Amino acid sequence: MQIKNSAVSMIIEAENQKELEEIKLQFLGRSGRLTLTLKEITKVPAEKRAIVGRLANEVKNVIEETLEEKKLTLGSQISNQQKQSIDITNPGIKPDIGHLHPMTQVLYEVADIFKQIGFQAADGPEIETDYHNFEALNIYKDHPARDTQQTLYLDTRDSKSNPGEIILRTQTSNMQIRIMEKFTPPLRVIVPGKVFRYEQTDASHGFEFWQFEGFAVDKNIRFTDLLGVLDYFVKKFFGENTKIRFASHNFPFTEPSLEGHISCITCKGKGCRFCKFSGWVEVLGAGMIHPNVLKRMNINPSKYQGFAFGTGLSRLVTLRYQMNDLRLLTDPDLRILEQF
Ligand SMILES: [Zn+2]
Repeated sequence: MQIKNSAVSMIIEAENQKELEEIKLQFLGRSGRLTLTLKEITKVPAEKRAIVGRLANEVKNVIEETLEEKKLTLGSQISNQQKQSIDITNPGIKPDIGHLHPMTQVLYEVADIFKQIGFQAADGPEIETDYHNFEALNIYKDHPARDTQQTLYLDTRDSKSNPGEIILRTQTSNMQIRIMEKFTPPLRVIVPGKVFRYEQTDASHGFEFWQFEGFAVDKNIRFTDLLGVLDYFVKKFFGENTKIRFASHNFPFTEPSLEGHISCITCKGKGCRFCKFSGWVEVLGAGMIHPNVLKRMNINPSKYQGFAFGTGLSRLVTLRYQMNDLRLLTDPDLRILEQF
């Protein structure tokens, strides 16, 4: 007992690792006080030997445990001291902070502009049936409009689908059909998404690009509602002074159809290389949803009307930032991306 008490108090008072080592030797070393006591056990009468032995072992354990604990506290004190000696006047290492890709920034912004007038965003499949991408949108098997959308077909040899039935969607308009299949009017929906076409890539074409589609179906929807929504959008996105003009166009799933041009952002309509000296740049396609499309979705076209519009999201980005090459957007070059 006496050995235990003096050992423990010495350990607690020890100030460094070296002192601890000395205390350890003094009690547990080859000729340490406890070691010698244990050797004396043989001299104890046999009937008391077991009790004395157990007691001695307990003392040994207590000393060892206290030693370990003290070692740890001394260790952490040392590392605290080391921490305090760090030179805080050294210049720090500034971590690089990333940000959203310009495409994503524009996507969020466009979605917000349409949300303000009651549109909801929807997402849909990129692998699509010929029916949803073409047939239901009034583009039949032999329709010449198919030639303008070079299609990537999926290999259907090991599936139940017929050859040519499963494709990578060429336009986000497939979602007009999918949403009208599931929900009844009134509908106000925007669909941002990736589309795919079998095309040579150049400064203004890619085989994979982002489209932005929107449509509304309700009672009393007029052509002027469409024009108003588009005017609202370009003014919000490109600035209040942006002008929009419309030209007639043709899409199989809208009637009448139009193309929207905005006054050139670069030259404000005076004419420059960016707008090919016309003062205007094409920005979107739109029209009133064809009655055949509504009928196929079991929506009565004499009660309900709708409009739809679509644009390339990358087109919006390149127009806004006056970039002359679409491919810069998919280039992982940080010198480009850090500018946004
Ligand atoms: Zn211009």
